[in-house]
Amino acid sequence: MKPNIVLLLFFMASFYSCNQSQTQTSISQTKIPYAIVIHGGAGYINNLPPEVEKAYKEKLNEALNTGYLVLKNGGTAIEAVQKTINVMEDSPLFNAGKGCVLNSKGKPEMDASIMDGSNLNCGAVAGVSHIKNPINAALLVKDSTRHVLLAGQGAEEFCKQYDIIIKDEKYFVTQKRLKQLQQIQNKEHKKTAQSTYEFNGIKKYGTVGCVALDKQGHLAAGTSTGGLMNKQYGRIGDSPIIGAGTYADDQTCGISCTGTGEYFIRTVAAYNVSALMKYQNLSLHQAQKQTIKYIQNLGGDGGMIGIDKQGNIAWFFNTKGMFRAYKKSTGEQQIKIYAQ
Ligand code: ASP
Repeated sequence: MKPNIVLLLFFMASFYSCNQSQTQTSISQTKIPYAIVIHGGAGYINNLPPEVEKAYKEKLNEALNTGYLVLKNGGTAIEAVQKTINVMEDSPLFNAGKGCVLNSKGKPEMDASIMDGSNLNCGAVAGVSHIKNPINAALLVKDSTRHVLLAGQGAEEFCKQYDIIIKDEKYFVTQKRLKQLQQIQNKEHKKTAQSTYEFNGIKKYGTVGCVALDKQGHLAAGTSTGGLMNKQYGRIGDSPIIGAGTYADDQTCGISCTGTGEYFIRTVAAYNVSALMKYQNLSLHQAQKQTIKYIQNLGGDGGMIGIDKQGNIAWFFNTKGMFRAYKKSTGEQQIKIYAQ
């Protein structure tokens, strides 16, 4: 009899402690603040005319609030990232979706990726020319294939089987981008690709990215871009490369990058931030700073945004400016363009 009572007591105790820890987890989860941070590209952005500055700030604000509302209503970080990026992809102000930069043949070739920090699931597309919202295609790859990255025609054919909006190339090509390409190509006196991101001596990127932390404590990150102006036909940058342009892990942080993609690939920049936090106990800000310095020492430039698992937000860039904004469930909010 006695051993049975001991056994019963043991089961009751373990059942109680298991329920206890589940309750505690859910209590602490609801206490985690939700937050969202976005970027619209880094670059040598100087003295924008007031009406242009206003247009950028308004669009950043719209994008930020779109994602914030998803989080506020209990939506997932992944959904917030997707919806936020859609707003910027649909705006010709940024180098993503409509109005993206053009390759050396004058064509749009877009890249995007998205990652769920709760399970490290991710999806990406590269070199697509007809997908209205490449981030939606990246999400489709994540959710509906056993792959991570689909490229070019194969990616587009796959998307056509689903609810993904396909557009003519002319939807993406704006007069502004055609003019920029012509000026760059005239300057270079040849139509070969230099992976140029310089326009009138001003380096501009304009890629878009978003990182979100939802009420469940899960992180997600996404990035969408047209790449670099006058890039070699077929060139793929860091934005669709998981670990380079995008990374999210609930154990550390979510990161989205912008800049000279080749350097972000070489340094595995987004993952580098996560690794510095995980293995060297650096804060998000310290890890970003160290990673951008690393890139700078190699000759690259750009920036990144991120959120850590506690909801701390950080950004870092070595260019003059970066279109960026954040909003936290505490009510704290900022929209900025220049360094200060
Ligand atoms: N990182 C992007 C690329 O290299 C460009 C950008 O951030 O604007 O494709």
